[in-house]
Amino acid sequence: MMAARILSGKEYAAKIKEAAKREAESLGICPGLAVVMVGDNPASAVYVRNKNKACEELGFRSLMETLPADTSKDELLSVIDRLNADGNIHGILVQLPLPAALADAEQEVLNRISPDKDVDGFHPVNVGRLSTGQEALAPCTPAGCIKMLEYAGIPTDGKHAVILGRSNIVGKPMAQLLLAKNATVTICHSHTKNLAEITRQADILVAAIGKPKFVTADMVKPGATVIDVGINRIEPKKLVGDVDFEAVGEIAGAITPVPGGVGLLTVAMLMQNVVTAAKMQSGK
Ligand code: NDP
Repeated sequence: MMAARILSGKEYAAKIKEAAKREAESLGICPGLAVVMVGDNPASAVYVRNKNKACEELGFRSLMETLPADTSKDELLSVIDRLNADGNIHGILVQLPLPAALADAEQEVLNRISPDKDVDGFHPVNVGRLSTGQEALAPCTPAGCIKMLEYAGIPTDGKHAVILGRSNIVGKPMAQLLLAKNATVTICHSHTKNLAEITRQADILVAAIGKPKFVTADMVKPGATVIDVGINRIEPKKLVGDVDFEAVGEIAGAITPVPGGVGLLTVAMLMQNVVTAAKMQSGK
């Protein structure tokens, strides 16, 4: 039986978007987001559409730059330069993954985005700002999870947070954000020994590894908050997370579902990052 409180991505995403809209109104700014997509990866097209839809919903400006799969690195960099110089665009993101021919240039491409417009929070300047406690644009997925914990009234101060995964997009920034919220943080990865022993100590357990139903009930402390970042397609139309939702839900205190959980927070937080970027650029 599901005992855990289900943390609805829909509910918290709506709160994050509402707050972003209100902040934009109070600043008197119409925030603008440019999404650059190279090639026609179908999964990316869905994500990009969701980002555009969120902009429309909030009345933000959204600009879509769709470039052919054979775009050269220099052409892509010149599009970024143009967007960096465009005063109506406050946030720029390059949808990943890039086509195979540009894969090696990924970091160079991300580094070309002005740090103040880097709403994905992947630029080394923002990574550095985040890790030194300065105001930063932080990656949307972990930042959205932190906002959800705040809205849900789940404390982090002095709590043991265990993160499964050390990617630049989720695991590492999640660790920085939880540290900044005074959690004691442990990061686990594929070389970690005695994983279940560590995860059973977690008051807050974040799973971001990309393995369907990897986290089982015996790995979770009763009452823990479990945040499932994983998105795994196990059948053409069936998505599951990294957590065995049914079994873990019987002992956890709170849990995010997949779908309907963290994925929705990511897009909502992107909207907040666009507002934060617009605010920084306006000097307000
Ligand atoms: P990566 O593949 O970049 O990183 C996976 C991490 O998991 C690595 O650090 C890896 O360790 C670790 N790992 C893999 N296997 C194990 C294991 N058996 N035990 C412990 N750690 C392990 O993935 P991402 O961080 O980009 O994404 C993770 C998941 O989150 C994916 O399912 C992805 O689809 C999803 N995601 C969801 C988002 C959302 O909006 N909800 C946004 C971004 C991602 P090592 O470093 O040693 O290889």
